[in-house]
Amino acid sequence: MQEAVKQILLAIGEDPDREGLRDTPDRVAKSFEFLTRGYRQDIEEVINGAFFEADCDEMVIVKDIEFYSLCEHHMLPFYGKCHIGYVPTGQVFGVSKLARLVDVFARRLQLQERLTKQVAETISNAINPLGVAVVMEAQHLCMTMRGVQKQNSVMVTSSMLGCFREEVAARNEFLSLIKHER
Ligand code: ZN
Repeated sequence: MQEAVKQILLAIGEDPDREGLRDTPDRVAKSFEFLTRGYRQDIEEVINGAFFEADCDEMVIVKDIEFYSLCEHHMLPFYGKCHIGYVPTGQVFGVSKLARLVDVFARRLQLQERLTKQVAETISNAINPLGVAVVMEAQHLCMTMRGVQKQNSVMVTSSMLGCFREEVAARNEFLSLIKHER
């Protein structure tokens, strides 16, 4: 990876040997390793022990989970907030584990649509709830920093499973609860 970064520096007309850039290939490699660590994490392991029995059949919502990802088209960051809702059938997720789950999928080259779907499906498979709703709102640097430069545009994606897909009332309740206070 260091060699590849050096090639990019050369290609943009830089001198990889000048003082400020001498350690850049090394730093970029380390930073990319961190930003893509999701590839080396096992989702089963991450959510192992993440849920527990609870006598609850009401909607659970965790909102404003921060995430940072890289778009697979430009390898530029996109980042924002993730809101998760589900209706449990006996098992609920630990809140910090939900954030870790989002992180495992976010720390890869991603499409926001796929990321949203992966989070929803993983929760659905893990605790078999009546339904799962995931909404992600993000700013994409590939949009704001280059090209169209729509600086404040936010992309919103959602994945609705089970009761959130089938029942308008459940979906609306979730959407109004995550809108609150924003
Ligand atoms: Zn992009």
